[in-house]
Amino acid sequence: MRLDKILANQGFGSRKDVKKLIKKGKVQVDGKAIKDSSFHCEPKESEIVVNGQVLDYRDYVYIIMNKPKGVISATEDHVETCVTDLLDEFYQPFSLFPVGRLDKDTVGLLLLTNDGELAHRLLSPQKHVEKTYEAHIDGYVTGADVDAFKQGVELDDGYVTKPAELIIAEAGDISYVRVVITEGKFHQIKRMFASRGHKVVELERVQMGSLVLDEELARGEYRELTEQELSLLQ
Ligand code: URA
Repeated sequence: MRLDKILANQGFGSRKDVKKLIKKGKVQVDGKAIKDSSFHCEPKESEIVVNGQVLDYRDYVYIIMNKPKGVISATEDHVETCVTDLLDEFYQPFSLFPVGRLDKDTVGLLLLTNDGELAHRLLSPQKHVEKTYEAHIDGYVTGADVDAFKQGVELDDGYVTKPAELIIAEAGDISYVRVVITEGKFHQIKRMFASRGHKVVELERVQMGSLVLDEELARGEYRELTEQELSLLQ
């Protein structure tokens, strides 16, 4: 692969930026300064040093974000702010996309990656990956709702959901609950509660498979997954 392409793909700036960097002699490949942008090498086999730092070449990037309200789980929109707009410019060349969708007003755990296989595995209905949500519900949530979720509830389009776990933390005029589902139908949690006559007031995803929302991340903040988090998802 061309050296300027490798560096641009790895977040070192536009093709024009990296060409300048290379021309200035700031890039070495296997110990030799390379000033020719069209120089070819295999990024996984060669040692590439940029500004004195060895390049940690990656095909894939994995980001955990605490999604805030008001942004949509998409990569491009003419009107709305997308979750990918919240990422630093460094990540733009990686073409990251959100793994599954959270509604504009839903907050919490969102994984962004360019690893299509991992995304497919996490989202495939056959894999039954658990997604855990915490919610504030308008009105009393009861044992009958817990039983109904366990049985599967009929949504507005006639679809009957797979068994889901509903745990009531506090029942009252506003109830606090935790819900675990293994599917990802459009507005699923809101529609499940609607089928029981309840409105979801607040919704936060706190876990997806073995990946738990990092409470150190404020809304809108993100970081790369640790090796351990990634290995748990594989
Ligand atoms: N269920 C919903 O209703 N909304 C979400 O954002 C996620 C799950």
